[in-house]
Amino acid sequence: MQLFIEGYRSHNYHLYNAITDATFSYAESLLGRRMMKNLEIDIKLTNNLKKKEGAYGFCHITDDNLNRPRQFHIEIDTGMKHSTREILTWLAHEMTHLKQFVKGELYDYQDGSVQWKSRRYRRRLNYGDMPWEREAYRYETKLYKGLRNEY
Ligand SMILES: [Zn+2]
Repeated sequence: MQLFIEGYRSHNYHLYNAITDATFSYAESLLGRRMMKNLEIDIKLTNNLKKKEGAYGFCHITDDNLNRPRQFHIEIDTGMKHSTREILTWLAHEMTHLKQFVKGELYDYQDGSVQWKSRRYRRRLNYGDMPWEREAYRYETKLYKGLRNEY
């Protein structure tokens, strides 16, 4: 797996290392060593992402191959007021979406509809009703706890 981290506070040794370790740990838990091998992830750290874009994190496919994507861009809010725990939890959430894309569980169509496993959702669901979000919220806490237990 190739990992690039840049942006706000990426020069902070502690934060940079914590994010690196967490990304590898999450990828291994979610995908296993074999599947994570070919991944390329760019992580952009942004100050006040929530204020600017309305969320603490994003995960986008940057691969040309949308059916078997292996290249991703993740953005995370690393504003000073956020704890490392919060930042690593948001990262776990976005890594869960990455897993959903890699495994082909989640697919965004041009027309705005979304395929989740065997079901295609044509109408916009409420955020809390989206099964891929529910899974990401379930996993983020689990993954973060698993990471803590490694130390
Ligand atoms: Zn989400």
